[in-house]
Amino acid sequence: MLTVKQIPVLNDNYIYLIVDEKTQTSACVDPAISEPVIETLEKENLSLDFILNTHHHFDHVGANIELKKKYSCKIIGNEKDSKRIPGIDIKLNEGDFFDIGKSKCKIFDVSGHTKGHIAFYFMEENLIFCGDTLFSFGCGRLFEGSPAQMVQSLLKIRSLPDHTKVYCAHEYTLNNANFALSLDPFNEKLKKKVTEIESKRSRNIPTIPCNLGDEKNFNPFLMFDNKDYLKRIGLNDLNDEESFKIIREMKDNF
Ligand SMILES: [Zn+2]
Repeated sequence: MLTVKQIPVLNDNYIYLIVDEKTQTSACVDPAISEPVIETLEKENLSLDFILNTHHHFDHVGANIELKKKYSCKIIGNEKDSKRIPGIDIKLNEGDFFDIGKSKCKIFDVSGHTKGHIAFYFMEENLIFCGDTLFSFGCGRLFEGSPAQMVQSLLKIRSLPDHTKVYCAHEYTLNNANFALSLDPFNEKLKKKVTEIESKRSRNIPTIPCNLGDEKNFNPFLMFDNKDYLKRIGLNDLNDEESFKIIREMKDNF
């Protein structure tokens, strides 16, 4: 069994501390800063065995070296991005497996936001750490990759079961959901979702992890091939990449 502790840091980042309960093996996903991680580890009486990095951005790898010095933990990242992941020890690729104690995760290459972005999918527990690829009601900006690449990456995540829990790296949900509603303003189910999110955020409750089934129904960036949806939001006769690209551009200007 894997437990996940969610640590909100900076403006809107989440760091995750995951623990394989059987073996007490621990890993930290995308440590932006070190102090809250150290605090949580000390409170839980744990050491740190691994750091899992989804991509090279500073708000995901900022504490790599400091935590490695303190705990001698091994740093795991994408082989293709090994020059940009500080202190990387274990280099993984699409389709590789890695064990955190008895919990097995599979690596997906989900490039688009950056060129070397990966996600960690824990199959048995059905949860995915996807960094800045898929957000609740949104997706990462395309800093390095192409729309076609991001579409392929999002399809990999979308192919997972509906009950998959999505642990993305930012709390952007309310802004994303308002964007989704601006595209599809008469969608009553979506309106209800936005109200629920507003209520949670007004009480400072995280909206993450989110449920992949909901994302499949409401996230504009997973509906680039849904003809009914595209018609509703005024996009016709475009291929998947073109639809995705336009929705991404609209969000960039929202
Ligand atoms: Zn990023």
